[in-house]
Amino acid sequence: MATTVIAVANQKGGVGKTTTAINLSACLARLGHRVLVVDLDPQGNATSGLGLEKAPGGSVYEALLGAAPLEERIRPTAFPNLEMIPSELDLCGAEVELARAEQNLSRLRTALDPLRGADRYPLIVVDCPPSLGLLTMNAFVAADAVLVPLQCEYYALEGISTLQRVLDQVRTHALNPYLRLLGILMTMYDGRTRLANQVVDEVRRYFGDLVFETMIPRTTRVAEAPSFGKPILEYDPYSSASAAYELLAQEVQGRLERIRQGLDPVAAP
Ligand code: ADP
Ligand code: MG
Repeated sequence: MATTVIAVANQKGGVGKTTTAINLSACLARLGHRVLVVDLDPQGNATSGLGLEKAPGGSVYEALLGAAPLEERIRPTAFPNLEMIPSELDLCGAEVELARAEQNLSRLRTALDPLRGADRYPLIVVDCPPSLGLLTMNAFVAADAVLVPLQCEYYALEGISTLQRVLDQVRTHALNPYLRLLGILMTMYDGRTRLANQVVDEVRRYFGDLVFETMIPRTTRVAEAPSFGKPILEYDPYSSASAAYELLAQEVQGRLERIRQGLDPVAAP
């Protein structure tokens, strides 16, 4: 079976990328898929959020620069079916070094190649940094599909046209013609506020069915979980956010199935 690489990206910070990368991965793992999380953000929030130490000399860094196979960087987590390639702050330096390197947009793709189709990971989830720099570009070139979290706040759509343009460029410059938008995920939704509902309406008008039906509610439990190094499913299985991420995992599974069949991720109306 082939491997599907999902990049979780939005150049804005604080929109729920890392929370989604961790919790979606944990839920997909719970559904029985073996998942590899790649922490591409020098902040390493996904790394600590899954209970691992940031790893000097053990991150994706050397692999991006061609100095070590990515496989050697894989670490188990405390959770079944879930493994990870941790990050470290030094990854900031990778961006600078990549700027001078050749083939600097396809380094992650090349590094992931030996893990693809190896029956090892049906799913690889890449947590991107909050920028459209070289690290995120590497994720787009390596990915089959991009999941974009949007926070239910004013300006949710700000920057989204830039993001779409970059995805188009990645497709048309033959860097990765098959890159798909897997979907838009509304995060930190508080249904009691009129603002949140207005934002969701606006985003749905703009993106239609690309917006996942599942929205992630704003709850303090989900913000607490990373300090215990656990996905929400382990930290508080009865939280509304656990239920939401489980539903999201099912939606994602359905869309990935369509992509594997060569169809659009979203069913035609
Ligand atoms: P990003 O990776 O896009 O920068 P994070 O996933 O780190 O965003 O989320 C930003 C902050 O918001 C973090 O402190 C996180 O714990 C918190 N957060 C994320 N999702 C939720 C949610 N559904 N409810 C409450 N807090 C959340
Ligand atoms: Mg993050």
